[in-house]
Amino acid sequence: MTGSCDKLFPYLEDVPRCVVCGYRTDYRYTNPSFLLKNKIRDLSSTYDGIYIASLKFKEFCSRYGYKNLVFKPLPKTPNFFQFYVEGNVIEYKFNFNENFCSACEMYESVIGPTMNLDHITEPLKDGFYQSDLWFASGNEKSPVLIVAPKTFQNLKTEKFKDLCEKQIEK
Ligand SMILES: [Zn+2]
Repeated sequence: MTGSCDKLFPYLEDVPRCVVCGYRTDYRYTNPSFLLKNKIRDLSSTYDGIYIASLKFKEFCSRYGYKNLVFKPLPKTPNFFQFYVEGNVIEYKFNFNENFCSACEMYESVIGPTMNLDHITEPLKDGFYQSDLWFASGNEKSPVLIVAPKTFQNLKTEKFKDLCEKQIEK
């Protein structure tokens, strides 16, 4: 969406970035020139951790009444959207972090996402969730996207394929 871990696309001069560490400070910036090359998947992710959803996926979410979801149009890729969850935050743990920047209050790297299951006593209610921590390095940090078991079943029922799934059990 905006470049690599270390370097933003030079033409994106207006991406907000930290004056001290140089990494971006807006991880939900939409690149107006973004072109999606692989349009086979209904939900995919860019290298810098931005989820891209198809119109079919957006319509699925509205039909099932899922709230707290943001779909931002991509000017150069019609019928696909930058997708993220608002709120519905779940506590996560990490294995390792390094280089805290006191100016933007972000770590350069946060590695090894694991859900903190201590306070989770029952399956998540139907819907979409996100981790409280943002993982990966440099310009590529993003929260983990989590779907409830029921939501996952609904996605399967609607024949969404190639969903990168990792089941979490307590
Ligand atoms: Zn910084």
